[in-house]
Amino acid sequence: DKRVVIIGAGIVGTNLADELVSRGWTNITVVEQGPLRMPGGSTSHAPGLVFQTNASKSMTEFAKYTVQKLLSIDCFNQVGGLEVATTAERMEELQRKHGYATSWGVETQLLTTDECVALYPHLSEDVVLGGFHIPSDGLALAAQAVQRLIERTRKVGVQYLEHTPVTGFVKDDDTITGVITPNGTIQADIVCSCAGFWGVEVGALAGVPIPLQPMAHQYVKTTAVPKQKGRNPEPNGATLPILRYQDQDLYYREHGDRYGIGYYGHKPMPVTAASLGPTAENVSESNMPSRLAFTPQDFEPAWKLTQEMLPALRDSEVAEGFNGILSFTPDGGPLVGRAPNLEGFYVAEAVWVTHSAGVARSLAEVLTTGKSTIDLSGAELSRFEDIQLAPDYVTETSSQDFVEVYDIIHPLQPRESPRDLRVTPFHARQKELGAFFLEAGGWERPQWYDVNAKLLRDLPPRWQPRERDAWSNRFYSPTTAVEAWKTRTAVAMYDQSPIRRIEVSGPGAESLLQRLATGDVSRDAGTITFALMLDDHGGVRSDVFVARLAKNLYQLGANGPTDVAYLTREARLQSSTDPRRFAQVRDITGATSSIGLWGPRAREVMGSLSSDKQLADLSPMRVTRTHIAGLPVLMQSISFLGEAGWEIQTSAENGLRLWDAVFQAGQGHGIVAAGRGAFNALRMENGFRSWGADVTTEHNPFEAGFADAVDTSKADFVGRAALVRLSKAPLTRRIRCLTLETAGTVMMGKEPVYLDGQAVGYVTSAAFAYTVGRPIAFAYLPNEVREGSRVEIAYFGRRQLHATLQFPRVDGIGKF
Ligand code: FAD
Repeated sequence: DKRVVIIGAGIVGTNLADELVSRGWTNITVVEQGPLRMPGGSTSHAPGLVFQTNASKSMTEFAKYTVQKLLSIDCFNQVGGLEVATTAERMEELQRKHGYATSWGVETQLLTTDECVALYPHLSEDVVLGGFHIPSDGLALAAQAVQRLIERTRKVGVQYLEHTPVTGFVKDDDTITGVITPNGTIQADIVCSCAGFWGVEVGALAGVPIPLQPMAHQYVKTTAVPKQKGRNPEPNGATLPILRYQDQDLYYREHGDRYGIGYYGHKPMPVTAASLGPTAENVSESNMPSRLAFTPQDFEPAWKLTQEMLPALRDSEVAEGFNGILSFTPDGGPLVGRAPNLEGFYVAEAVWVTHSAGVARSLAEVLTTGKSTIDLSGAELSRFEDIQLAPDYVTETSSQDFVEVYDIIHPLQPRESPRDLRVTPFHARQKELGAFFLEAGGWERPQWYDVNAKLLRDLPPRWQPRERDAWSNRFYSPTTAVEAWKTRTAVAMYDQSPIRRIEVSGPGAESLLQRLATGDVSRDAGTITFALMLDDHGGVRSDVFVARLAKNLYQLGANGPTDVAYLTREARLQSSTDPRRFAQVRDITGATSSIGLWGPRAREVMGSLSSDKQLADLSPMRVTRTHIAGLPVLMQSISFLGEAGWEIQTSAENGLRLWDAVFQAGQGHGIVAAGRGAFNALRMENGFRSWGADVTTEHNPFEAGFADAVDTSKADFVGRAALVRLSKAPLTRRIRCLTLETAGTVMMGKEPVYLDGQAVGYVTSAAFAYTVGRPIAFAYLPNEVREGSRVEIAYFGRRQLHATLQFPRVDGIGKF
């Protein structure tokens, strides 16, 4: 029976205790620095609005479960949610939201102005253009839920220690073994920090960086609103839907006949939790560490805007207010899961009340079964790059998230600052070629190159870019068509440097990878194996190209920092169990640079760069070391795009010379530098699914169309038993490629797909397929939907696009 210590008795910590109890774990101690009846964290004053719909499927799933659970303990007032638009752009955003909600299984409606006013009579019809109604949203009674959960988990033996601050940890090497408090040390096998915005301080005690920034946010209550009289007899009662007025960063709920108003329109107010001092013995509604003095001048614009939107409130005043503290993170997601650098230490922080029970359930699943049923890739603590853990980065990006919390953000929109954090050795050349950069993981990544625009006039009519709708036209250039055309008909070079490269070495490298990957990686040096890394339940945790460079040396082409954390931990565990099978994992991404050279003329370009005959004859999925243009390179014959060629890798300091040599050699063959826009379109034409967008741990290899990448004849590997089981069960859904019947609209992903008028699936990624002159999309659909079937896709909330189903790749593409 594992000894678990949970730090923090807010809505997250208590839900976690409860979720563990319901899975049979009861050896649990919850340690809280404040008094249990009102601990004084963010939960103690949370107004509890739960809007479930989110562009992220996982966030929506977390919220759906929170609603379900709070209803089950009688701590949810399901008044519904209403988001209103006052601009055409917001109305479009609400239409898209209606699409996400449908994709993720939340029933919602778009409303006209009249319908909004009928539902919510206080609204000014002069201001509202329309709305989005979510009948299952509502108000969480968060503080009450905490008390209920404490009560019911106590009954089965969970211990709660109040007025007990955690002041340190006991560690044995890199494993946590105990929690230090002024009243003594508590032995622990597992520690879960649910310390809310104190997460940074608690993390520091354990040596675990926690990238969150506490921020103050204003909340006020009005005096009684005459028009509300008698509507809600209870002082905190509410019957109208919770209301969001995002165009002005405002939200509303009723407190009996008074109104509660939350405001995000003021300047960001970052706070350091350590500066707040210890939690007082006598925490009260008006005296708690998470509640700072109200700054009325910051609220002034909100009050004026409120009176315009809700004229009934003109007969009331702001009675009281406070600046309450909650957590923001660099990408707006929560922080959940295992600490990459400390065995036994887990977190669930930067979690809203809205997502609390869902996040707690996922973490409880991770602890008890090793896997969350909901995809955690956007929530994992280990998802951040080192540079993103720098405190300045966390403060700047989290402050920006605060500013943008209700803004309309395009899926491709890069942050404006900080930029140029990580640039590849080719950066100077890319700028000369007019690269338009997007940002990912701190890397600057060319989306297209303006210099190629001059080739638009050479494009054959079939390849000419089509006019696009305004939304998909953002962060897009028709030049992408040129880059796609050149890749298919001549040759193009792509900067692959930011793609994760991980070196696995040592006498235990082979056994480590044989155990973690689905493919057979025991083949000779010089081979590349495409494989998956699965969890124990057969969910796809990553896809990897495993290149064997020598007996005890592999290089993996992988995905994010979570892969590095996973491989590092597994190598550490293996090495400590059996030192003869020692394996070391090293992220070599930043130390190396890489060019993808692809296209029918790639061989000719290589011919002028190298006299190495073997290179030109290198068959697909082989790796070799050689020299080209006087530079030591690692050549991998891999293609994502369905064209022959190589990934040419050299160390970072040689990168610039490599770029110049390849670019120069390609001049006679029509080479262009090409960006991610073309890459994405071409990889989709080739049926190549992208982990994170098209495939996550929620999908098994059969659903994701990756059956070829699993080798169940291989001896045991992680997920094998599950695969054997899954292979015998009927498939319920499958990823498919949809070809749209008309050009002109390119989806952005997450749109719902309808068959016979029913929403049956959702788009994972989409692009304009230049090779066939039509937009395409990948979508998960019920397995019985057959090739050639006609489906509809809702774009901006309307079923307006017709598409036909194909799989796995667009006809005739994928020659490699
Ligand atoms: P907390 O409730 O802060 O709990 C953490 C606990 O850990 C605290 O009780 C603290 O005392 C304890 N702790 C910390 N350090 C230690 C230590 N060293 N030793 C022992 N114990 C420790 N969310 C919504 O979903 N909807 C809303 O409408 C909403 N409105 C909000 C309005 C305001 C004004 C604010 C400030 C927040 C709002 N939030 C809302 C956010 C929400 O309140 C929080 O995200 C949520 O309550 C966090 O819960 P938690 O359990 O993680 O943190």
